[in-house]
Amino acid sequence: MATTKTAARHSDMKRERYEELQRILEDRRREIMSEVKSKMKDVRAEGSSGMIHSVADAAESSEADIQDDIELALIQMKAKTLHKIDEALARLDDGTYGYCFECGEEISRQRLRALPFAVRCKDCEEAREVAAQRERMLSQRRGAAALFLDMSS
Ligand SMILES: [Zn+2]
Repeated sequence: MATTKTAARHSDMKRERYEELQRILEDRRREIMSEVKSKMKDVRAEGSSGMIHSVADAAESSEADIQDDIELALIQMKAKTLHKIDEALARLDDGTYGYCFECGEEISRQRLRALPFAVRCKDCEEAREVAAQRERMLSQRRGAAALFLDMSS
């Protein structure tokens, strides 16, 4: 029957999309995990050389500390991204990941590959950007008008 065939094809598509989105998220996770691992190694290596420096030159060791802080901040950022990926994978299981927050349409795979945490489809995002830009322009104009009023008073 035509209807069952369509339904089957539809669920195949869903399955395929699910697997592709899962792959996108897991690839991203693996990428970040390996970055974090190599960064951790860097921090540890720099940390020990920093210690040697601290004996030789206090100023240099504080530079090393700043560098470590930056590296640690980067690792924290990556850890947050990992958390977001886990959330996205959970949403994927729920069947809520990959749909536009505004219009409920599927967000294209290309878009999700580039922006795995996109919550809007391209059209809705663009509409939002246009609205935000208009808002900025209006507030700038208001700001300029206020400035003008200030000067004239
Ligand atoms: Zn949308």
